Amino acid sequence: MADFFTFFGGFKLTLRHLGRPRVTTSYPQGKRAKQPRQHGRHVLSRYEDGMEKCIGCELCAGVCPVDCIYVRGLDNPPDHPVSPGERYGYIYEINYLRCIHCDLCVEACPTQAITESKMFEFSFTNRADAIYTKAELLVDDQGVPQRLPWEDWREGEAEMTGGWMRATSPSGDASFEGVVQWTGDLGTGVRAAEAGQSANRDDDATGSKQLRDVFPRHLLSEDVPLDQRGLQAMMKNARAKMPKRRDRGQH
Ligand code: SF4
Ligand code: SF4
Repeated sequence: MADFFTFFGGFKLTLRHLGRPRVTTSYPQGKRAKQPRQHGRHVLSRYEDGMEKCIGCELCAGVCPVDCIYVRGLDNPPDHPVSPGERYGYIYEINYLRCIHCDLCVEACPTQAITESKMFEFSFTNRADAIYTKAELLVDDQGVPQRLPWEDWREGEAEMTGGWMRATSPSGDASFEGVVQWTGDLGTGVRAAEAGQSANRDDDATGSKQLRDVFPRHLLSEDVPLDQRGLQAMMKNARAKMPKRRDRGQH
């Protein structure tokens, strides 16, 4: 008899999850919405007037732990400057065979020139394609990341690529939470500040979501609607609602 219960005990987990919401999607036909801070393919941003933000300082290349950024700066031509600084990024390359999407380059950049989109579905058939050049990384004349033939962009993956991806406040100082500390982007303007854990968070403006809103499997058992719970949970619930034996005896 004990063996009988041990055998069927193994099905407990299956039964518990039988009625829970389905968490799988038919990828890649359907893609799940990405988190606002998803680290995807980089973009080089431009100011609202169209000037490039990169000043060719090479800080991003210096901080990159895997040496996959190659930058060369050049003095801005006085008659048609490319960036508002003295210099601009003349050559800018990222080798995606090495990049680990740590975002240290984004944190290090003093002008919020290099940021990341949410798109990471890209693959290559030769090594040369894996090295993205400045012409490919720079946003277009509307401020939108360029879509290369081997990339799979979906709705929302090119949004919110601006400076808000950096730390929410310098040195974790709460007095800076919710304060915009970055410049506007071409075609988008100044992006809303992400408020981190403070009460000032503006989820509509930043696209932030509680993890539970995005991934049903992060739901606590009590958050799962009753009709979607597993058999065991439903029985437990029914039992809890039944009057106790002593209460029944009193009626
Ligand atoms: S995300 Fe990290 S690994 Fe990739 S280029 Fe930036 S610093 Fe280098
Ligand atoms: S992307 Fe930023 S850190 Fe890198 S060279 Fe340009 S300005 Fe400097």
